[in-house]
Amino acid sequence: MAAHEARKLAEERKHQNMQNDAKASQGQWGRAWEVDWFSLASILFLLIFAPLIVYYFIMSCAQYQCSLIDPLLDLLTGNKHLYDIWNRTPMLTYRAAVIYSLWVTFQVVLYVSIPDFCHKFLPGYVGGVQEGAVTPAGVVNKYEINGLQAWMITHVLWFANASCFHFFSPTIIFDNWIPLLWCANMLGYAVSTFAMIKGYFFPTNAKDCKFTGNFFYDYMMGIEFNPRIGKWFDFKLFFNGRPGIVAWTLINLSFAAKQRELYGEVTNSMILVNILQGIYVLDFFWNEAWYLKTIDICHDHFGWYLGWGDCVWLPYLYTLQGLYLVYHPVQLCTAHAVGVLMLGLLGYYIFRMTNHQKDLFRRTNGNCRIWGKKPKYIECSYMSVDGTKYYSKLLTSGFWGWARHFNYMGDLMGSLAYCLACGFEHILPYFYIIYMTILLTHRCIRDEHRCSSKYGKDWKRYTVAVPYRLLPGIF
Ligand code: NDP
Repeated sequence: MAAHEARKLAEERKHQNMQNDAKASQGQWGRAWEVDWFSLASILFLLIFAPLIVYYFIMSCAQYQCSLIDPLLDLLTGNKHLYDIWNRTPMLTYRAAVIYSLWVTFQVVLYVSIPDFCHKFLPGYVGGVQEGAVTPAGVVNKYEINGLQAWMITHVLWFANASCFHFFSPTIIFDNWIPLLWCANMLGYAVSTFAMIKGYFFPTNAKDCKFTGNFFYDYMMGIEFNPRIGKWFDFKLFFNGRPGIVAWTLINLSFAAKQRELYGEVTNSMILVNILQGIYVLDFFWNEAWYLKTIDICHDHFGWYLGWGDCVWLPYLYTLQGLYLVYHPVQLCTAHAVGVLMLGLLGYYIFRMTNHQKDLFRRTNGNCRIWGKKPKYIECSYMSVDGTKYYSKLLTSGFWGWARHFNYMGDLMGSLAYCLACGFEHILPYFYIIYMTILLTHRCIRDEHRCSSKYGKDWKRYTVAVPYRLLPGIF
């Protein structure tokens, strides 16, 4: 019933769109209402090929020592057939299913049943109940921010097991890597399908649902904006952060343990990857409240893109450097190692400071200092679907005066550092920087399109004040 009303609302809105394009752009600043052919083709491409890409990368490491060319050559020259490769691929095992079920259940328990206590003793940390941004329907959701606590409990238990209890080997993740891939896929597809059914039949907030009428687009990009079970189990916050990002650092630790088991030592490149990615993950949880104001939570609906992406794409492809280093242990010379560390830390500094400047500016409504001065900004306004007018500000000082998404530059520098830690023998570990460049450039364009329809003329004034998107003077 609620879904039916939302669909009707969508139809009415489409009609208004045709009548008055300019007026309609206000209050329509969420995900697209209509699907063009290019978007549809991209979505079909991703739905078909993204799972194959993940399989291809992981299989290349397991069967071809991380060469991306050799499997193709084998297939093209007839040396091997697809079924030869498939027959050598480990299948789903009972053990992997148990490990994965316990893992996800444990993360659900940490998420829903232990209210945050970290904010009570960690100075500067923002946790506990926090508010998200205003949704297009004018709703403000509350979130229990307890990701840092979940990450800490999980890692304390991991180290306690590795050093004292020895219930399982720290190489457990590497040893079950492909069987776990099938489990992650099952969860990814199950949660995306459930989210779609929920969007139709029992949405959490019908006014924040979007139906384009295109099945594939709706499945991929999601219908519901903030699907929830009960008051607190928020799909986006849970799946975006845990189980995938909590697992990221454990996966790297498991790869380091495997390196030691195989070669008797952990290389400096593996340590660098663990440290740099560890900082990134810890930063994510330390700033989980800030994360409520990012595009993922503020603007993306919950569909296959987030559901499957968080369960499969992120843990399997963001950890390729560590996996590669198990097959190719690289010991870097001191200059190379220091260079990678510096690049990684500089990237992290830019990433963090840029995000911090925007967060501080928005939190204090501009009553703060950026680089020692009162910040400059552009006043802007927008409307939610119920016609309520809201006011906002776009910062033009600090890193936000250099480019409109300088935070993405910092992220890209950090990503390049992880890849450079793996040396230059294979292309596989460089997948991450190639992917991040495409992702963040696309995200930048997507975000600007959305901001332009949200803020209209005010956004134009902002782009005149800050003309570059990513890199000052270039793009
Ligand atoms: P941003 O944090 O840049 O958020 C963009 C939003 O900020 C806009 O939609 C707008 O929202 C607001 N905004 C834009 N310009 C200004 C301004 N000048 N002043 C104030 N507010 C402004 O983008 P993301 O959410 O994409 O990224 C957050 C971080 O996460 C980035 O550092 C990114 O690198 C990282 N990231 C990492 C990924 C990964 O896979 N590793 C994936 C995606 C992101 P509003 O409507 O509120 O005005």
